[in-house]
Amino acid sequence: MRVPQLSCFEEWPKGLADCPSSRDIARILPGPRWMAIEGEQKAPLFLSTLLHGNEKTSFHVLSALANDYAGKRPPRSLLIFVGNVAAAALGKRVLDEQPDYNRIWHGGIHDQTPEHVMAEAVKHKVAAAHPFAAIDIHNTTGRNPHYGCVSSMRAADLYMLQYFADIGVYYQNPPTTLSIAFSKICPSITIECGQSGNMVGFNRALALVRHVLALDAFPKDTTLAPEFRLFETVGRVLVDPEKSISFTGDDMPDSDIVLDSNIEAFNFTDLPAKSVFARSNLGENPLRVINEFGENLTADFFDQIDGQIQVKRQVTPAMITSDTAIIRQDCLSYLMVPMDTD
Ligand SMILES: [Zn+2]
Repeated sequence: MRVPQLSCFEEWPKGLADCPSSRDIARILPGPRWMAIEGEQKAPLFLSTLLHGNEKTSFHVLSALANDYAGKRPPRSLLIFVGNVAAAALGKRVLDEQPDYNRIWHGGIHDQTPEHVMAEAVKHKVAAAHPFAAIDIHNTTGRNPHYGCVSSMRAADLYMLQYFADIGVYYQNPPTTLSIAFSKICPSITIECGQSGNMVGFNRALALVRHVLALDAFPKDTTLAPEFRLFETVGRVLVDPEKSISFTGDDMPDSDIVLDSNIEAFNFTDLPAKSVFARSNLGENPLRVINEFGENLTADFFDQIDGQIQVKRQVTPAMITSDTAIIRQDCLSYLMVPMDTD
């Protein structure tokens, strides 16, 4: 088994601070890498970057931190994992022969790829350092506002969530993500910074990282601000891999499922019952809604009426993408409902 070797940098790698693009990172770091930067406070902030090679914001945050702290200690130690360098060099989320780097953090006995072994080693290293918090930085493929995701209702997790954005998501699915695995170790958040290149998302991500580095302790208060919208995910929408996908205007009359060409506009929009989610003339719905336990909830969420796939109850989609490669690799959408926090 070829396990990616994790060599460790104990200072900022040369060239990182002024590296112009995540595509060039392979010249500085030839594979997944680990950095341990000593700061004033010992309990480190763990940062996870480039788990998806085409999501560039984490790279730019890393480069900005290398600039901030060139020749001086950060207020708190940093442990940084730089994930899928090979995919980043090619501008891809993941390479064909690799597992998704954000689906390797909790494996069953059948999932022991070299990347799972590497993820286990990273988890052990971070846990042994008694981390202060973990932040995993991502972009969305489709158009979304920036938002955070947590899988614990701890005060510290909610604090980071509200600091980053005014929308948050509580999720337990898929259970193989980094932030769910690390939430068992320390306060943990995934931040979704809009699409790659979105400056608002980048500025918010950098502000959150700088703020957490400077904190002595997290506030204990778990109150959510009245304007803060917290959702929980209830399922992921998968498309039957055998069925063809097209978009309105594509002129593919025989396609099994037709999605609105503007479907990304549904992201974080409340869809009332009977809204049309997609169209299909097949006898059987080609969409599946699967929850965190792998249960099929399709009949709870979708009705198929006269060629329309309608939502059965009010839901709020997120992470919808019209990139068919990502739909096939990951999913079409997540479905969410407002979280009941009482
Ligand atoms: Zn991602």
